Amino acid sequence: MLIIQHFDKISSTYTYVITTDVNRNAIIIDPVFENIETYLGTLTRLNLKLKYAIDTHTHADHISGIGKLRDLTNCTTAIGQQSKVIKTGMRVTDGDVIECDGMQLKAIYTPGHTDDSYSFLLNNQSLFTGDTLLIGGSGRTDFQNGNPYDAYHSLHQKILTLPDSVLVYPAHDYKENTVSTIIYEKKHNPRLQAPSAEAYAEIMNHLNLPYPKLMDVAVPANIALGQDINQSISFDDEITAEDFITKQKANEIVGIDLREAYECKRDGVIPNTHHCPYTLLDEQLKPGNKLHELLEQHQHQLYKIVFICAFGERSALALKRVRKIGYKGMKHLQGGYANWIKAGGVPELKS
Ligand code: FE
Repeated sequence: MLIIQHFDKISSTYTYVITTDVNRNAIIIDPVFENIETYLGTLTRLNLKLKYAIDTHTHADHISGIGKLRDLTNCTTAIGQQSKVIKTGMRVTDGDVIECDGMQLKAIYTPGHTDDSYSFLLNNQSLFTGDTLLIGGSGRTDFQNGNPYDAYHSLHQKILTLPDSVLVYPAHDYKENTVSTIIYEKKHNPRLQAPSAEAYAEIMNHLNLPYPKLMDVAVPANIALGQDINQSISFDDEITAEDFITKQKANEIVGIDLREAYECKRDGVIPNTHHCPYTLLDEQLKPGNKLHELLEQHQHQLYKIVFICAFGERSALALKRVRKIGYKGMKHLQGGYANWIKAGGVPELKS
């Protein structure tokens, strides 16, 4: 396992590139827009393929790089279920596990700094805490639906219940600290010594911190993330959820679900669709794999094939990638599985 820590001097943000040497796939956490070239340099230098770009929460002090990384590398973007971000590839909820090349990244809902804050636990060993727990500190709770009582409970009931040896990697540091441990923070972090939620709220409500300089720019920009994904996809490439339901009943289409196994298990599936996770697209397009077979089988009637994902981001990316290698005529489900549910689709639940 390799964890590479990048530092943004302007916002004092830490960004993490994590990888194993199994298949040279990587995950990035909390990338900063202005530093995209640096991250791409790291990926190139280590010959890594970026699979996921994740934000721990909607940032107020910098513009997120996850949308740009998705456009440049075709990776899957992810943020918490509670986030107001308009468009993202996946939304994680408490307990979801993103699996990639021997990395198991468990999402832990830790509201308080914001109401969409998550921490991510890597293989039970390393915790990416976002702004929930900082080294010797904790994230402010005075904007973006922050709440010191929620923060106290997230810290004491979720984070401090993890094993003492777990490494703590925060999203910010202002004093050149790089990494800590649960036990060290438990003993030495002054914020964690507050004896009750009330005492913690008393501290947090009197910090009198200045308004983040970039907040009025960063928050709207980050909420609008992913908006331009459909610029390269026309309306003719989409099928509405209503149309999908009608055409599927008439047996006129073949649905290919690109979501991850954990999403299918959590949210259910559209009956009679094929499952080919987007992260395995390159593999799946090789002869002998299911997606390759489906595309070949329908090559004279590719209008039948409809890509599906959670919200329409990965399906649009898949459409672009599959067309690039010569297949024409497929469509993707507008607004994804979420729209299909809204249109009255009856899911099949996976056990
Ligand atoms: Fe923050």
